[in-house]
Amino acid sequence: LVPRMRRFGTTIFAEMSQLATRTGAVNLGQGFPDTDGPALIKDAAERAIATGDGGANQYPPGRGVPALREAVAEHQRTRYGLELDAETQVIATVGATEAIAASVLALCAPGDEVVTFEPYYDSYTAMFALAGAEHRTCTLRAPTYAIDEDELRAAFSPRTRVVLLNTPHNPTGKVFTRAELQLVADLAREFDAVVVTDEVYEHLTFDGAEHVPMASLPGMAERTLTIGSAGKSFSLTGWKVGWLSGPAELVQAALTVKQYLTFSGGGPFQLAVAEGLRHGGDFLAELRTDLDRRRHLLVDGLRSAGFEAWLPQGTYFAVADAAPLGWTDATELCWKLPELCGVVAIPVSAFHDDPAANASLLRFAFCKDDAVVTEGVERLQRLR
Ligand code: PMP
Ligand code: GLN
Repeated sequence: LVPRMRRFGTTIFAEMSQLATRTGAVNLGQGFPDTDGPALIKDAAERAIATGDGGANQYPPGRGVPALREAVAEHQRTRYGLELDAETQVIATVGATEAIAASVLALCAPGDEVVTFEPYYDSYTAMFALAGAEHRTCTLRAPTYAIDEDELRAAFSPRTRVVLLNTPHNPTGKVFTRAELQLVADLAREFDAVVVTDEVYEHLTFDGAEHVPMASLPGMAERTLTIGSAGKSFSLTGWKVGWLSGPAELVQAALTVKQYLTFSGGGPFQLAVAEGLRHGGDFLAELRTDLDRRRHLLVDGLRSAGFEAWLPQGTYFAVADAAPLGWTDATELCWKLPELCGVVAIPVSAFHDDPAANASLLRFAFCKDDAVVTEGVERLQRLR
């Protein structure tokens, strides 16, 4: 393995899911739903596979099947008022993960700097390392995760090429407000940086929190690449269908890289997700209602187990502090949790450059059946 990738080892999500399987623990770690997405979408994939209509089972175009690109453009227009040309301004990717990889590798040269908030999703830094880009961060601290404006400004420099933003934010559940996004936008413009914005949890917001796409801010559409994913929106994480949209020149740059990463991704799945984006509104509303209920079940349960825990405004993750239970190192606790009480969670420090940052915080996923969340929090009561 090349030296620059050595420190990445196995992802924390894979490690913790293996731990759950090995020990039979309730897996509230890796973020995947235990109920699959809607029949509407699954049936469409089956039909496409069975009939092979339009060459569905052969290589799709590198940009993605036209039906999906058109559905993404329509989704961005009707939801957010963003105008996109489906031919030149949208591509399909193999999950959001490939969209992130293609964007970073297309835009960052060795020595360029990339700004993210910290904690950040783990694939970001792995891609910066592959690109040879330098990582600068601004830390969000529990429980408010407010932006320290001085720290944010200090993360920028004339070498800043990209800001990689994530809202709603994994792992904190923070939904960035318009004013917060404006701060980021102003700095991106001042330093002439491109914003790559990971909005895979765009549909998963609660308590009236509004998801604001970065591209919808004045003057930002021209310097923003927006990423979405059917995995999170339609509870089909195993399908790995994502998309990327933005100005034609930036999308073309990402496509140039994407062609040589995978060329294209599963055609029948893309066709089916197009159906979901067009007709999946009821499913999304139901998913939100279910997740809202589970969010309360989880956070109430964590509190009664002795954690300090906060209700997230978005995503399907909640963060809890184990310090009141006497645990200052959440990584150590996460490895012991199956043995102590039969539950798996993710240490928030896995989302940090500095393992000492947010050291006593754990992330719990609540995209699980009510019974699973309930069982998980019942087991956690044994920690007291
Ligand atoms: N970004 C964030 C913030 C995520 O939590 C995830 C995990 N779903 C991804 C990207 C990757 O998405 P996908 O599974 O579509 O590749
Ligand atoms: N996004 C998921 C999470 O945060 C994990 C995806 C993965 O395993 N790479 O839990």
